[in-house]
Amino acid sequence: HAKNSGKDTHALFEHSMNAQATERLEMEAMLRRAVASDQMRVYYQPIIDLETKQIRKFEALVRWQHPTLGLVPPLKFIPLAEETGVIGPLGDWVMREACRQCRAWQIASPEQEELSIAVNLSARQLQLPGLAHQVAQILSETGLSANHLELEITESVMMGDPDAAIRTLQELKSLGVHIAVDDFGTGYSSMQYLSRFPIDTLKIDRYFIQKMVEPEGFAIVHAIVDLSKSLHLRVVSEGIETEEQLSMLQLLDCNFGQGYLISAPVPAANAESLLAFPSSGAVAA
Ligand code: C2E
Ligand code: MG
Ligand code: MG
Ligand code: MG
Repeated sequence: HAKNSGKDTHALFEHSMNAQATERLEMEAMLRRAVASDQMRVYYQPIIDLETKQIRKFEALVRWQHPTLGLVPPLKFIPLAEETGVIGPLGDWVMREACRQCRAWQIASPEQEELSIAVNLSARQLQLPGLAHQVAQILSETGLSANHLELEITESVMMGDPDAAIRTLQELKSLGVHIAVDDFGTGYSSMQYLSRFPIDTLKIDRYFIQKMVEPEGFAIVHAIVDLSKSLHLRVVSEGIETEEQLSMLQLLDCNFGQGYLISAPVPAANAESLLAFPSSGAVAA
């Protein structure tokens, strides 16, 4: 009996493996078509100066506007995009669109001349040959100056070939582009970044911001803010959801912040209206 059920299970498993493989191929084809046929959207989340509450930067966050599934969040398709190489054309599209949009906002309002854009870069993208050249090309096409572009990387770039990653980051830096470490504090080798990577900004992971109401959490955020300052890095807190967190971060003199309290990521048109009223206090949730 046990043998039989094992065999059945095996057959079933094989069947579902095939089904899964087919599903993956279908998903991959769908994803490729989506990038080519204008189904991707860039949402923008404001990053404010915590002292003045002015918007200094937007983080570009991709979504897939699927005709029947609706708005698909990035964590549902970025991993597949990375595994299949679709991240190449997808990342390229996001960066071009985000740079174009940022430049358009700069031009539309003289007060926004210094507005910057932050774009996420996965480890796989950093390994693609000619990345710096591609970024330079996008900047010249869109007219955005390099110092208004920040690329966010995570600890996963350390896992492949860190020396190659460092060389690519140095090429990007020499264009004048800024580098931020995203989700800082969650990686197993976070501290290695500080000495090895040419970085400008630390983004404190929202895990620690959520824990700030507890003494240990507060101490960790305090330490990261101080560390950033000693290393002359800018520091951003992500995932600010409460007034309490906001005032604690202001007390710690953290430079920048983003989170649902300020605004969720929104489509370009909504981001524009956030920009139009930059000093109306808390920007809107
Ligand atoms: P991330 O770069 O760390 O982006 C921050 C994520 O936290 C976003 O999720 C954002 O919507 C969410 N968030 C912002 N404020 C709050 C808050 O106050 N509370 C909570 N709970 N969450 C908040 P999203 O847009 O779903 O993106 C998830 C991840 O997908 C990003 O994490 C990033 O790693 C990746 N991603 C997004 N767009 C791109 C892209 O264009 N390229 C690549 N390679 N990765 C991307
Ligand atoms: Mg990010
Ligand atoms: Mg992050
Ligand atoms: Mg994150």
